[in-house]
Amino acid sequence: MHRRTVPCQYFAPQKIEEALEILSKHGKEIKVIAGGTDLLIQYYDRLYEVNGWIDLKNISELKNIRINKNEMEIGAMVTHAQLEKSQDIKKYYPVLSQAAADIGSPQIRNRGTIGGNIVNASPAGDLLAPLMAYKAKFKLLSGKDEKLVPAENFFLGPKKTILRPDQLLTQIILPFPKKKTYGCWIKIGKRKALIIATITLALVVEMAEDNKTVNDVRTCLGSVAPTPIEIKEIREKMIDKKFSELDFNQLGQIVEDKISPIDDIRGTREYRKDVAKEIMINALKEIILQLEGDYK
Ligand SMILES: Cc1cc2nc3c(=O)[nH]c(=O)nc-3n(C[C@H](O)[C@H](O)[C@H](O)COP(=O)(O)OP(=O)(O)OC[C@H]3O[C@@H](n4cnc5c(N)ncnc54)[C@H](O)[C@@H]3O)c2cc1C
Repeated sequence: MHRRTVPCQYFAPQKIEEALEILSKHGKEIKVIAGGTDLLIQYYDRLYEVNGWIDLKNISELKNIRINKNEMEIGAMVTHAQLEKSQDIKKYYPVLSQAAADIGSPQIRNRGTIGGNIVNASPAGDLLAPLMAYKAKFKLLSGKDEKLVPAENFFLGPKKTILRPDQLLTQIILPFPKKKTYGCWIKIGKRKALIIATITLALVVEMAEDNKTVNDVRTCLGSVAPTPIEIKEIREKMIDKKFSELDFNQLGQIVEDKISPIDDIRGTREYRKDVAKEIMINALKEIILQLEGDYK
């Protein structure tokens, strides 16, 4: 096996500014490490070589979940366990909370971070569809600029994003959902726990004041394309319609028709298409239950 002979550099900055300075000098040669649950596995498999690490573990500014005016700000080093336990995330973004609770095992949830899940950009990353569904924006900082990028513009393909080597993902910004917003998270895999998703669905529906008419909807899926995707055609079929008059079968069919998944070890293209339709129908039924709960 190939073994490195040059010494490996290790940086553990305390502040974001320090990290940006290190990245501006060494970003092309060194790797950012958060929880290491993706990175170290790829490293031990020798999927890449590194000349050094910049470890974000000491940057406390990146570990907070806080309400900021009309939005929620989640630090990139917030772990899945933090997301799962946060009462604010549960209250305002239940689909994200449930997705975080479904990731890996307690050990992985305690180490793995939201920032790592995003930048790793696996098509099967569980948080990606929920973040798209809640219209997340990612704050990308470098020594020379600051960008706020909508989730749908961040991902380019499996493990590929627009992040430059001198940039750090520092925060995830979520606008506050409107009062009558409902949501459903479905993850399908070969087992119930510790499993990489075969397909995921994050459905977020915003209702009008009457709680009967659909104001807005986001139907986002993971593991069915090189990046997480939104099925935008669902919007025109649902917006301004009465929820009780929607044709669930037709909506499920649109999801099935609009995705173009591949065969892989976790499932065939046909299987994913069939399941996509079923989980869309089930998610809509789940929203009905939530609405009925609110009517009582
Ligand atoms: C046993 C096991 C089970 C798993 N189960 C699941 C699962 O069910 N669902 C799921 O989605 N994932 C799962 N994963 C994958 C992994 O745990 C998650 O993707 C996790 O969120 C990665 O976060 P991390 O902090 O460990 O990232 P790291 O491994 O530290 O980093 C991942 C990538 O992101 C980059 N990076 C991290 N933070 C930043 C930042 N702030 N700015 C710029 N770049 C950054 C790193 O350079 C690297 O390229 C599993 C992994 C294992 C080992």
